Amino acid sequence: MAGQLTTIGFDADDTLWQNERFFRLTQARFAELLADFAPPEALMDRLLEAERRNVGHYGFGIKGFVLSMIETAIEVTDERVPAAVIRDLLAAGQEMLRHPIELMPEAREAILALAGTYRILLITKGDLLDQERKLAQSGLGELFDGVEIVSDKTAPRYGAIFARHGDGAERAMMVGNSLKSDVIPAIEAGAWGVFVPHDLTWELEHADPPRAHARFAELQHLGELPDLIARLG
Ligand SMILES: [Mg+2]
Repeated sequence: MAGQLTTIGFDADDTLWQNERFFRLTQARFAELLADFAPPEALMDRLLEAERRNVGHYGFGIKGFVLSMIETAIEVTDERVPAAVIRDLLAAGQEMLRHPIELMPEAREAILALAGTYRILLITKGDLLDQERKLAQSGLGELFDGVEIVSDKTAPRYGAIFARHGDGAERAMMVGNSLKSDVIPAIEAGAWGVFVPHDLTWELEHADPPRAHARFAELQHLGELPDLIARLG
């Protein structure tokens, strides 16, 4: 079956490079700035609620995250949040948009090992400009046969991407750290779904692993991917 595999899609954030850790650092700063108004745990709960409410309007990424922090700050202060706090939240967001790329271990090696044999795609969601910046800084750009920056990752979206860039989802694989966005919808589309967990994963990306599915696999790190693909053959 894997003899038919022609196309491999990679998620970007927390699969090829670090991402969530920068959100966590900013959340800690957010909690610090609003410590006079609410305890950290309550703040995190309110922020997550706001993100859940807003993701359908703002999409995924730093800009939406900053707007949700500001909205939460207004709520928890009963509309008395000091302008200096808003300014600091905006500054924290801008700092996130400038953070340097930190590649995950084995990311480059895994892609290099597969790039000659398979069509390699980058499939990511988030702010367009930010994802383009990170891809450029990663130094991985030339290794990809196609790049798709999408508003959300759904089964029909994967079906369309693998049809456009490859030979359809049946002959494709998606590799990523999010069960909800990378693995499950890719499997639903008919592709392989390979889960590479990251120790920090955003609440809204959690889902149960489809361990019983024949096209599901889980790896400790990307260095194991070439062997997995060889075994499938
Ligand atoms: Mg990810």
